[in-house]
Order: sequence, then C-alpha cells, then structure tokens
Amino acid sequence: MGTQAPFHWLFGDQLGPHFLRPGGEVVMIESRAVFRRRRFHRAKAHLVLSAMRHRAAELGDRVRYVQAETYRDGLARAVGDAAVTVHHPTSHAALRFVRSLERVEILPPRGFLVRPDAFARWADSAGDGRLRMEDFYRRVRRDHDLLMDGDRPAGGTWNLDADNREPPPKGAAALPVPGPYRPREDAIDERVRDDLDRWERDGTVSFVGRDGPRRFPASRAEARRALRAFVRRRLPTFGPWEDAILAGDWTMSHSMLSAALNLGLLDPAECVEAAEAAYRSGDAPLNSVEGYVRQVAGWREYMWNLYWHLGPGYRESNALGHTAPLPDWFADLDAGAVRANCLATVLAQVRDHGWVHHIPRLMILGNHALQRGWDPAAVTDWFHRCFVDGYDWVMLTNVIGMSQYADGGRITTKPYASGGAYIDRMSDLCGPCAYRPGHRTGERACPYTAGYWEFVHRHRERLSHNFRTARAVKQLGRLTDLDDVLRDARHRDPDAPP
Ligand code: SF4
Repeated sequence: MGTQAPFHWLFGDQLGPHFLRPGGEVVMIESRAVFRRRRFHRAKAHLVLSAMRHRAAELGDRVRYVQAETYRDGLARAVGDAAVTVHHPTSHAALRFVRSLERVEILPPRGFLVRPDAFARWADSAGDGRLRMEDFYRRVRRDHDLLMDGDRPAGGTWNLDADNREPPPKGAAALPVPGPYRPREDAIDERVRDDLDRWERDGTVSFVGRDGPRRFPASRAEARRALRAFVRRRLPTFGPWEDAILAGDWTMSHSMLSAALNLGLLDPAECVEAAEAAYRSGDAPLNSVEGYVRQVAGWREYMWNLYWHLGPGYRESNALGHTAPLPDWFADLDAGAVRANCLATVLAQVRDHGWVHHIPRLMILGNHALQRGWDPAAVTDWFHRCFVDGYDWVMLTNVIGMSQYADGGRITTKPYASGGAYIDRMSDLCGPCAYRPGHRTGERACPYTAGYWEFVHRHRERLSHNFRTARAVKQLGRLTDLDDVLRDARHRDPDAPP
C-alpha cells in the first residue's frame, strides 16, 4: 500500500501503547460471536471486555469502538471500504481471517521479544535439527543483553532451576509474602458485568466459572502498578517457591502478570528489565530473577515462536492416541464432585479465579488428563477457555506439546506423568485427602499413583524406548501387584462422590 491507511485496528489482546501506530484513527471491535462459539470462563470474558473498554476510554475520540456480531460486520460498520492496518494477530485463525480481507495491511507482530522470522533462522541453524528451549533461552539472553555480565551470564551460570524447587514451608497455610496487586473495579466493570448477565439471561451466551471481583489488571496503569508491586514485594521470593503449592494460597509468590502480558498491556521487555534492575540494585536474589526471566524471555517466547513454527496442523497431534472426552465435572469446573483433594482444590481455584500457576496446571490438571487418556485437543481447548491468560498461541504448544505429550516429544523429552509422591512433596494437599499418595492399590489408593502406573503400562512400548522413561517401564515390570493396580486405576475415579 502506498499511502498510510486511515485506520488502525486493535484486537482485544493488543491493548498496550506498543500496538498503536502513529497517526490514523483507531478501530476496536467487540465480537459477540467469539463468546457465542465457545464456553469461556466468565472471569476471562469480564477481563477481556473490561480491558478493551478501558483502552477505548483512554483513547477517547481517537477510537471507533463497535459492538457487532462478528469482526467482519464490525469492521464494515467502523470503516466501510477504507484501508486498515493491524499488527500481526496472535492466532492462526485470526491471521487467516485478516489475510482474507481486502484493504487490510498486516504490520509486524508486537508484544514479544523475538520475531518469528528470527526464530526460524535460529531453528534452521540448530545443529542436529533438534530445538531445545535452553539453547533458545541463552540466545535470547545474549541477543537482548539480559542478565549478562559481558558475554557471561550474570553470576556465572545460565540456569538456577536447582535453587527454585523448594517445597512449601511446613505447616504454613500461606507463604510469608505480601499478596499480589489487587485492582479496584470501576463503572466499566459494572457495565461489563451487567452485559454478561444480560447475555446469559437471554440465553445467547453460556459461561463457566465464577466472575468474582476482578483480580487481574485491565488497563495499562493497573498493569504497571501490578508489575511494580510484584518486583518490589514478591519477586525476591518467587524463585525458591515457584513450583510449590499451598491449598490456602492460590497466588503463592507468582507475578500474576501473564494475563496483562497476553492482553498486550505490558511488554515483556519492561517486565524482564524491571526484574533485572531489582537484581542489579541488590533488591532481589539472582535465582528469583533468573527464574522469572526464564519464564518470560525463555518459555513464553519459545511457546509463541513454536506456535508459528509448528503451524496449524500441530493442533491435530495425538501421538498417544488419546480420545476420551472430558468428563462433565471437569468441563463444568465442578470441584464439589471431586474426591481427590488436589484435583478438587485446584479445580475450585480455576472455577473461582480462572488462574492457577504452572505446577497445578501441569502436574495436577494436565497430569490427570494425560493419565486418563483425554483427547489432547479438547484438553487444550479447555485450558484456553478456562484461564484468564489462555490464548491459542500459548495453550496449543503448552498443552498439546508439554502437558499432553501429544506431539510425541517435539517440545519436551518425556511425558509429564507422575504419581502422588510429587504432589505430596510439593504441596500440602495430600494430608487431608481421602487417598494416600503412597498407596497404589486398595480403598485409599491415590488416583494419581495408580493412574501413573496404568499410564506407564498402557504406553510401555513407547516409554521403554525413551531414555528418560525406560526406567519407569523397568520398575513397572517389578510390580508384583500390577494386576491389582490396573484394576484399581480403571475403577477409581477422582470424581467419586465425596
Ligand atoms: Fe492428590 Fe493423591 Fe495426594 Fe490425594 S493423595 S491429594 S489424590 S496426590
């Protein structure tokens, strides 16, 4: 296009200043069809609409804000036949859609440190053709001079994971750290809640989960305050307890910034720079800062880039042949129907907040789905809909690849299946549970422990050829009570009536 288009379109996850284009009127579209098509967590719908409307209020006269049935209708109403620019959207479907429109120019992606073309060059240069997150992460650290002392990693080591696997403090109901930033709802939130009530009442849209007080930033100002509060008050303790779980502390010492990042309210560069500044000024230890930088500049970037690198067909991956549908209690976030304390606790947290940290996602929710052989595409869709920070780009790779091992090992070297011992070590959830993590048979057999052995048995052929899981298959062969384990695992449901 020769002259600059008169309009610039912002999607609902492009809300920070780095998505604006100098000059031109801004267009924002609320599409009702998005909410009609899928059953989202209500707190997520609330957050996205609140954030979009907060952005529109900030932009004032600069924005044409349209509520329409579809994006196509909304765009036609907002700009007619006029030309539009838009930054590269974050899903294959949205990219296909904007490419199908006439007079829409797609600008480069924003909101990430590494562009897909730079990632493709790195992937092509990977020596043995294997992509490793650790190699990618080090490359990002070097290229962006992040946490580096010259050409060496700060502190002399790249990876401080070994310092970041502490179990929770014994006997504590919550971590001894200040709570996360809490936004204050305003008139915009009130109107969003009224709209969602109306949509539910007229039967056009159905949600799952509870829309309690909004917990996540919905504006740039709130997101900046949340970042400052995290770095000052919680980052120092983030590292050691980043994998720990306490039933009474759903946020632990996590940043709670993933939703703001994925809405585009924060740029990852400012997050990792703020964390590094805390290390340089002696306000946060290196293990916490490195752990956080690894999450944002390493894992998040890796997931975003793999999403584009692996292409839309990746969604169909199902190397383990898992096809079981999600049970209703899981789809409905019906924690009260679940007897296993870990699963009931985490499901209730998802129901109430639309967020739990990466370990409950991976080792409790994902682990259970994997053991039970649930359809990985359905599990991915569930995570996308039920988490406030869930988007296609982040869930596809995280769930299909890492959590469900449906790609047969392209992203992770082994399936994240484990028995109750891991959950017992890293949480306070097993003590009050009706099951015992060490029991694999009998009345009190832990569904995770029995489920783990059933999983290893079911996939013993594949797992025996993987150097990281071959030992588990050998151990399986030594179980004298394997028949009982298999019988119990098949018949023991964590959703048995409490
Ligand atoms: Fe979960 Fe098993 Fe522990 Fe119960 S005993 S909380 S089911 S891991």
